[in-house]
Parts: sequence; structure tokens; C-alpha cells
Amino acid sequence: MSRKNIIAANWKMNMTPSETAEFLDPFLQTFSTRVNVDIVIAPSFISIPKASELITPNPAVSLSAQNMSHEASGAFTGETSAAMLLDVACEYVILGHSERRSLYGEDDAVINKKVHATLAAGMKPILCIGESLEEREGGQLESVLTSQLEGSLAEVSADQMADIVIAYEPVWAIGTGVTASPEQAQDTQKFVRSVLENLYGAEVAAATRIQYGGSVKPGNAAELIGQPDIDGFLVGGASLDPQSFAEIVSAGIGG
Ligand code: PEP
Repeated sequence: MSRKNIIAANWKMNMTPSETAEFLDPFLQTFSTRVNVDIVIAPSFISIPKASELITPNPAVSLSAQNMSHEASGAFTGETSAAMLLDVACEYVILGHSERRSLYGEDDAVINKKVHATLAAGMKPILCIGESLEEREGGQLESVLTSQLEGSLAEVSADQMADIVIAYEPVWAIGTGVTASPEQAQDTQKFVRSVLENLYGAEVAAATRIQYGGSVKPGNAAELIGQPDIDGFLVGGASLDPQSFAEIVSAGIGG
């Protein structure tokens, strides 16, 4: 089963609307025609309209949000709905990022509601899972990942899995400069695929794209993408520089 790589930039709380334009102008010229990899940019909410204006005419690049409310509308101060994201042509929504889980208390039940709201709106969740160092060293890696997947995918059908991307991001590798070794990442992503197989069967598991995230840089991208169960990256720090993100995307094209 061949899976198209998907490389996504998670800009987190960086990049003003003006800086977004400064990044995208040259970057979109480099990738102006469809390439053999899906390229996704996830700016902060305030920079999404500017990014949408620039990205929408470009067939090679898609827009993502970094979060979304599961509520449709109403008295939810500070929140952003699916309809708002659709209005600016968002195609993907990052859900369950470890910073949302640890800093804002999002648990699998909330993330599951967001997954359903995203799918119902016709957008595609990039669903993040990952273990802390303590959990890995304490022998809980497999149980943590299994319960994150079971909880955040509850009542998601096999057909709906076609629109879901999983991002495996070991918490100890996010923003730390410490990357999982290619073998560690491969072994874990193979395990994630086996959980999907238990939940949805072999065909769905083989078709689901599983990204790796955690200190991906131009220097380690090629080796990581060469692993059979790594189908792209969710990139934080290294996606803030157009040149370095372009190099990571190029590794995805070659992988
Ligand atoms: C992330 O936040 O999703 C991430 C992977 O960050 P970094 O690449 O900076 O480790």
C-alpha cells in the first residue's frame, strides 16, 4: 500500500500576519505546482486569513488550524468554530497536540468531540498522540498510545479514517532538540499501525498516514522518512524558517 507523505508546519504561537506573508511569498514560489507530497501550513488563528489569501490559489499547499472548538457557535469566549475555519478554506485541523493536552487540559474525550466536529464539517483532523519520557521509561508506551487512540477515535468509522492523519509525537522530543532515533520512531509507528489494525482492520491500517513529530530538522528528515511506517512529519521549530521547512518538504518528496 503506497501512502502519500504529508509534511505539516505547526507554527504554534509564532508568526504575525505580516511575518506569515513574508514566509509564504518565497515558500509558495518554491512549491507552486503539485508535488508528490501533501504540504500543510498551520498558522495561528489571527494569521489564517492572510495565509488563506496566499495559499488558496496554490494547488500544492493546504491550510490547517492548530485547534478548533467542538461547539458549533455561541457563548464560548476565545474559541473558533468549524464554520469559521471553513469560511477561510481550512482543510486540516491539528487536534490533541501535547501542548493542548498538558497546558490546556484537553483529554481524549474532548479531543474525540473535536475529531467528530472536524469530520462533520468536511475537514481532516491531524490527530496527535505521544508518550512522556516517564511513561516510556516506565514501560507504559504501548498502553498510553493505545488508550489515546481508542479514546480520541471513539465512534469514528472505518470510512472516516480515510480523512484522518495520525501524528505520533513523543512528548520528550517536542521542541527539545532530542529526536527519536529512526529505529525508535519506526518501532513505535509500527505499533501505532497495529493498534489501528485492531480497531479498523488491515486495509484501513495500511492506508492511514502516520506522521512523526519531534525535533525534525533538515539534517534528520531523510533518514526518518526512509522508515516504512513514517508517512511524513509534523514540524514545529524547523518550520518557522522557509528554507529549512522547504528542505524537510524536499526530503518528503524523495522519501
Ligand atoms: C510540534 O510541536 O508538533 C513539534 C514537533 O515541534 P518541534 O518540531 O519543534 O519539536
